[in-house]
Amino acid sequence: MDSVNSIPMTQLVKEYQQNVWQKVSVPRAFSSCRKDGALMGEPGVAKVIFVYELCKTPDLLHEFLRKAGLLKKDLTCAKCNSPMKLRSKDINDGAVWTCRNRINKKECGLQKSVRFGSWFSCSKLTMGEIFFLTYLIVKGYGTDKIIDEYSFSSCTMADWRQFINEIIVDYVEETSETIGGVGEFLFRASYEEKGIDTFNTFLELVRKIDWTNFTYAD
Ligand SMILES: [Zn+2]
Repeated sequence: MDSVNSIPMTQLVKEYQQNVWQKVSVPRAFSSCRKDGALMGEPGVAKVIFVYELCKTPDLLHEFLRKAGLLKKDLTCAKCNSPMKLRSKDINDGAVWTCRNRINKKECGLQKSVRFGSWFSCSKLTMGEIFFLTYLIVKGYGTDKIIDEYSFSSCTMADWRQFINEIIVDYVEETSETIGGVGEFLFRASYEEKGIDTFNTFLELVRKIDWTNFTYAD
């Protein structure tokens, strides 16, 4: 979505593993991991507790997503062409893009969702839920397990699994990269074999796509 943004996902994950680790309260049973934050995963490679804790802190998640190029960092007003500003708002997303430009002493006031033109647009799930679900699917958690543990509906599961697979299939078709087949299973197997984290790789694919005119079912 933002060609200027090319911070390696591993670098960003590493930075936020430290941020999240400062805030997290880990159950006593994991105390042996307390010291070095091993529960967050190897530096730069997310583990489920890191993603879960990140998603529990919307401000931190949104900051992460903006830095990652997964949410827009700036937006121009479609009505008057001025730069829009992020304004805090008591809604699930926590903020909204607002145009504060004044035309004939009247504020333009156009608003756009912070999700506009992103992986998170057009879904009723929270951004945290989407990010968490993306992690689980890309990392190979089974559908039944995800539904059982986290209570996503089977319909949501089917949609997002298909959606993620489409991204992967498109990527494989576009590049000459041979991953020995198509679909998330082979995508995962191929990258894991090379020691490359699939979640980071997937996020880097997602941020390259222009989501501006994209719509999909929830
Ligand atoms: Zn405007």
